[in-house]
Amino acid sequence: MSQLDDIAAIRAEFPQLARLIHGKPLVYFDNANTAQKPRAVIDAVSSYYTEHNANVARAVHTLGEEATTLYEAARDKLARFVGARSREEVVFTRGTTESINLVAYSFLRPTLKPGDEILVSRMEHHANIVPWQLIAAETGAKVVPAPITETGELDVDGMIALMNERTRLVGLTHVSNALGTINPVERIIAAAKARGVPSLIDGSQAAPHFRVDVAALDCDFYVLTGHKLFGPTGTGALIAKRAHLDAMPPFMGGGEMIRKVSFDGTTFNDPPHKFEPGTPNIAGFIGLGAAIDWLNAVGMDAIAARETMLRDRMLDALRGVDGLRLIGAARERAAVFSFVVEGAHAHDIATLLDHEGVAVRSGHHCTHPTMQFFGVPATVRASLSFYNTEDEIAAFLTALAKVRRMLA
Ligand code: PLP
Repeated sequence: MSQLDDIAAIRAEFPQLARLIHGKPLVYFDNANTAQKPRAVIDAVSSYYTEHNANVARAVHTLGEEATTLYEAARDKLARFVGARSREEVVFTRGTTESINLVAYSFLRPTLKPGDEILVSRMEHHANIVPWQLIAAETGAKVVPAPITETGELDVDGMIALMNERTRLVGLTHVSNALGTINPVERIIAAAKARGVPSLIDGSQAAPHFRVDVAALDCDFYVLTGHKLFGPTGTGALIAKRAHLDAMPPFMGGGEMIRKVSFDGTTFNDPPHKFEPGTPNIAGFIGLGAAIDWLNAVGMDAIAARETMLRDRMLDALRGVDGLRLIGAARERAAVFSFVVEGAHAHDIATLLDHEGVAVRSGHHCTHPTMQFFGVPATVRASLSFYNTEDEIAAFLTALAKVRRMLA
């Protein structure tokens, strides 16, 4: 028995899923973009503002202590959720983008030299490309793309073959947001480790869908974003090996990240606080903690199993649609489907689908190099979550057929 057996009850916990869009029931297939929030998350944010609002880590009064306790409890929850070795390894950030920039500017840039290489796959989100390009441009290093295959899978041997004595960091997405591919990150982490090269795994699209165990993966850095994990926007984390966090200089300076400030010199707080200057998104992280509680109660294994069922249904359905080309055909994949349709632009399809109540994303999905590889400027992307249903897949197919008739 799983709570997901009563999917109507589960859906009822997500208020926005009950919305009508253009008079039609919402079919929300844009979960890779951002996930809907359960009432528990909305209530946690609201309860912080109505009952506990105060700044964290600086006030001794009751409200300050309550806010700090709730905020720091979210760190414990996230640490356990992703299998971090300790809570000190969890740095709160605004999301994956900030987490990767933190690693780029604080960990890598200070020692980067001309000719050094940063190896990332060709299926990365721009967030795992552009920060490296920025620091490479400043230092004379270069970003090297690792090959992918026509099926949208990582060429693992090809990536490993590109690791050499100049490689300073290896970056790889756990799950591709554009293709749905689940990458064998363990193999890349192990190969990098064997060569003494640090690895960064982008878990933005993995953590919401299956159990992640950062300690078992043993990567140097794991990054994720809270809003895709059913939490509030503006929340996320960098999970990093303690030795790196100890050695890394602060990324941004300000209050709370210091031990003592004087005009003769400043000493810094211990990790993770060294990397969390200023007043954080307190309500957001409390909401993220509530999201994790909610996910734990439902169970990540049950979530993964349901999403596998939905993925298979959707894959079968899409394969049966004439003139539809799926971009990416990885054997190991999440319920994320990019496709193009003969004679119709992705944006037109997405716009007309919206009129039928179906929310999908269209465009390049912040993965220009992936789109270039497949020779398409844009795709339609339908990304499902556990709260989606087989009826919604049917409604999506009906809407797609209607849209195609309109565009014919
Ligand atoms: N990496 C991947 C794989 C993503 O899918 C996304 C968001 O779409 C990001 C990074 C960036 O996340 P955020 O915008 O929350 O920082």
